[in-house]
Amino acid sequence: MNLARLFESAHDKHGDYPAICAAGTWHSSVELFDRAVRFSAGLRTLGVKPGDRVVVFMANCPEVVISYHAIWRAGAVVTPIVFLVTPTELRHMVDDSGAVAVITTAELLPKVQAALAGSDIPVVVDFAPLETDEGPLIDRGEDELAALLYTGGTTGRSKGVALTHANIDAASAASRRVSFVPGISRSVTALPLSHSYGMLVTVGTQQIPEPESSVLLRFFDAPAWLRVAEEHRVQQAAVVPSMLSMLLAEPLEDFDLSALRNVFSGAAPLPRAVAEEFVRRVPSVQILEGYGCTETAGILTSTPPGRARAGTVGMPVPGVSLRLVGFDDSPVPPGEPGEIVASGPNVMAAYWDGTRDFTPDGWLRTGDVGVFDDDGYLSIIDRKKDVIIRGGYNVYPRDVEEALMRHPSVTGCAVVGRPDNRLGEEVVAMVTVSSAVSADDLVEYAKTVLSPTKYPREIRIVDAIPLTSVGKVDRKRLRAGIASPP
Ligand code: ATP
Repeated sequence: MNLARLFESAHDKHGDYPAICAAGTWHSSVELFDRAVRFSAGLRTLGVKPGDRVVVFMANCPEVVISYHAIWRAGAVVTPIVFLVTPTELRHMVDDSGAVAVITTAELLPKVQAALAGSDIPVVVDFAPLETDEGPLIDRGEDELAALLYTGGTTGRSKGVALTHANIDAASAASRRVSFVPGISRSVTALPLSHSYGMLVTVGTQQIPEPESSVLLRFFDAPAWLRVAEEHRVQQAAVVPSMLSMLLAEPLEDFDLSALRNVFSGAAPLPRAVAEEFVRRVPSVQILEGYGCTETAGILTSTPPGRARAGTVGMPVPGVSLRLVGFDDSPVPPGEPGEIVASGPNVMAAYWDGTRDFTPDGWLRTGDVGVFDDDGYLSIIDRKKDVIIRGGYNVYPRDVEEALMRHPSVTGCAVVGRPDNRLGEEVVAMVTVSSAVSADDLVEYAKTVLSPTKYPREIRIVDAIPLTSVGKVDRKRLRAGIASPP
């Protein structure tokens, strides 16, 4: 369905309810809808036409949600950019998208001005004055562009992913079908709404049979997250694994989290040790996992309701088909790992620049290596690009990370390859620790739990693992940092 129509029908169906709480103030669903309808008229007076790209450059706040719906109502294309990018990156994305306007906040204006020097693109800082008339709904077809999302750039330069209304609608409907639990009505969201995962959560709330109230955090902060969860008796949360690790470093037992039932983890590998410790310390919680990428509007698999299987990302969500392929796109034998390729109504047709990476029969190559078990649960082994080739042996960083995370002192871990003249690459681990332990002790431990081909010869104890704006391990920065021996 067209996303503006979806918002309108949710409004008709659910009426008035407390939709979003931000900075201690609740915003009702009717207020959000009315402001989006009026702001869509304001966008038109600014000259925004159907199909135009409009950049939304803000930290999480209700205005992000209002902007998305106003842009869709005006028939235009939401182009969210995470507020942590540098002015140079912002300029690249504005130019690349051909955006006709940028919506931002006073706090981010200096960055926008630095980025847009010499350009005459209108910048909207406070859109209240633009909320004038009621804007009509410009009904773009389902297969028209709805959003242009820039990928995390975890592995290279950020690329624009062109998603249609149908892609986003299908992804959020599927995620809601598998994650909706009757009676759960309060959630906390600290994921950046500018990322596909955050967008999925936002749009998805319009597709549930019962309205959901969400406490929105500007960005993730573990103590603030815990205070909100306790104060609002939050029942459900969507997180990325690094958030769970950061929560584990807090005195969880001092908070009353007894209302918390479902914690969805996605966007990056969830170490089993982290999931297990979280559930041990907050026993009311079950952890559910999902896997997806920007190219699929955020989702491909999810834990089937009530049938979690630790160490897996569940099964393909309704409508999605997955296959594993080897070299030459040949199917891999059952139980063997292969590259995950995907098809479904949420899969993009191509990148914004027109390039695409699909199998000859039209399945998206995810770049991830996975394996299915006999019951159809998928485990992500690693990204193809992250595989370290040490002396001719493939080493999956995730295997090494999982093993090191089992050490009682290790609280965080990231493994990358360092160029090595003799072996091609050497396995190097960065770890954060909670108690005194030496790097040599950790190497000795690694020898006992990992084979000689893959245990890290070098382990560096660091204060923090660099993360991307979404909270994934920033492998580009890590690789640059370990380019040479210490
Ligand atoms: P770029 O594509 O620019 O390098 P990115 O890969 O971080 O950046 P996203 O689209 O945000 O861009 O991330 C999708 C990737 O995240 C997937 O291809 C996969 O590697 C990883 N991922 C997502 N969910 C999970 C999960 N549950 N477990 C393991 N990995 C996951």
